[in-house]
Amino acid sequence: MAADAQARRHAGLLPQTADFAANLEASRRHLARFAAAPTLHLIGGVPTASASGETFSNQSPIDGTHLGEVAAGDAADVAAAASAAQDAFEEWSAKSGEQRKRILHTVADVIMARADEIAIVESADTGQTIRFMSSAAVRGAENFRFFADRAPAASDGLALPSEHHLNYTSRRAIGPVGVITPWNTPFMLSTWKIAPALAAGCTVVHKPAEWSPLTANLLAEAAADAGLPAGVLNVVHGFGETAGRALTEHPDIKAIAFVGESATGSAIQAQGAPTLKRVHFELGGKNPVIVFDDADMERALDAVVFMIYSLNGERCTSSSRLLVQESIHDEFCARVAERTRAVPVGHPLDPDAVIGPLIHPRHCEKVRSYMDIARAEGAIVVEGTPWADAPRDGNWTVPTLITGASPRMRIAQEEIFGPVLTAVPFSGEADAIKIANDTDYGLAAYIWTSEIGRAHRVAQALDAGMIWVNSQNVRHLPTPFGGTKASGIGRDGGDWSFDFYMETKNTSIALDTHHIARLGV
Ligand code: NAD
Repeated sequence: MAADAQARRHAGLLPQTADFAANLEASRRHLARFAAAPTLHLIGGVPTASASGETFSNQSPIDGTHLGEVAAGDAADVAAAASAAQDAFEEWSAKSGEQRKRILHTVADVIMARADEIAIVESADTGQTIRFMSSAAVRGAENFRFFADRAPAASDGLALPSEHHLNYTSRRAIGPVGVITPWNTPFMLSTWKIAPALAAGCTVVHKPAEWSPLTANLLAEAAADAGLPAGVLNVVHGFGETAGRALTEHPDIKAIAFVGESATGSAIQAQGAPTLKRVHFELGGKNPVIVFDDADMERALDAVVFMIYSLNGERCTSSSRLLVQESIHDEFCARVAERTRAVPVGHPLDPDAVIGPLIHPRHCEKVRSYMDIARAEGAIVVEGTPWADAPRDGNWTVPTLITGASPRMRIAQEEIFGPVLTAVPFSGEADAIKIANDTDYGLAAYIWTSEIGRAHRVAQALDAGMIWVNSQNVRHLPTPFGGTKASGIGRDGGDWSFDFYMETKNTSIALDTHHIARLGV
């Protein structure tokens, strides 16, 4: 590829996959291997079937067809992967930061060389439309480059001198770690966890979500092709209750980085307690977007619509609660409704489609059930336009706006995790803050106002880990990512990731002959 096109692609400016027919053809080609033979674990650099020989079926969200079999791991496979990660740890953690940096940059290069394949497979496996998935590899590669660049300084610490001592801190990798990921944007999301772990010097056992297993293998293959030593990144497929649980319970696994539902986070904390597992949790959200009557209406409207209908609404930071000031409520909601009806639902590989099928029939049923719940609660449901050609056995839904909701209704409290937006009116600033904070979650919040003092006041009063003012969700990699309350424990991003994957050690050196009490003299 020409250097110019490569540079533009890195900047995310070049549509990689702009031709529907070509995408369909590419998906046939890239999915063939997953249909021809089971997708295996990758343990110690070797594709490995489950010790039990068990597999599970992976189905297309588009039409329910069988995409292939996947190895169903259990405690025996996790033990083999943990042992491979343990064996690889000494050598990998002993490499210099510069050596790790070079290898991780090469991983990013290999990811970019396979960008179209990763985008297509991700789209076909998850139902997320190619319009958004075309940047999956680009974002994944960026994550690798970001943490690769920081690897050489990851073990640096602080000098903390006192009167009689020089104290200095240093960090070292904690050991083999487990990374457990969900099915929404699985490729990008797993690189966000795995890249800093590898940069820190940890070795990894990755347990991808059972509903989206395929791109985990593409990532591990890219890492191996880039020269990552065998055993440094292992993949064990399988269900949460078996493979996931075994990983959280394994004594050689020193920490678990988990992204998923709040209830699963709770279970993992209990499972990891006997082995004193360090945990980092990125959990659910019911994020408010607060639109004041002095906001830039056009930009607020664009952001509100984008932040609920992009990525099928299967997005932890989606603004799924729209809090609108009463004075503009009816007009604003009417305009959101107009957009809701116009957002195109379609085949995920069609570059014109915004919303594709949801990940799984069970999840689709759950999301659609909220339309009935909303009606039963007395709210008004505005449904978008279905795709006329949607295959019968796919997990299809429509973008949905719910109005006439009150703050305590289930539709305003529970994480739906689909393209469903619940609008609630508010009277003024204090009311907006009260409603926004009145939820179990505290991941992200969005504020739209033109008054700078109000922007700061509201931002400070909101109980959430991440606040955006007059902005959609724009991720800046050095900033902390994570939530309060049921939305998570801990932060990652920038140095926060290294703090999780590394142990900090303090060394204290006496500068003089300070007083030491002489006992027993
Ligand atoms: P989930 O909790 O059902 O599953 C996530 C992963 O955990 C899967 O790999 C699953 O197999 C595994 N798992 C399940 N039970 C387990 C157990 N007992 N022990 C160990 N592992 C277990 O979540 P999901 O439905 O795949 O993903 C959707 C959820 O993820 C939503 O709640 C969403 O908000 C959340 N999420 C949060 C963020 C964030 O950054 N806060 C980002 C993306 C997704």
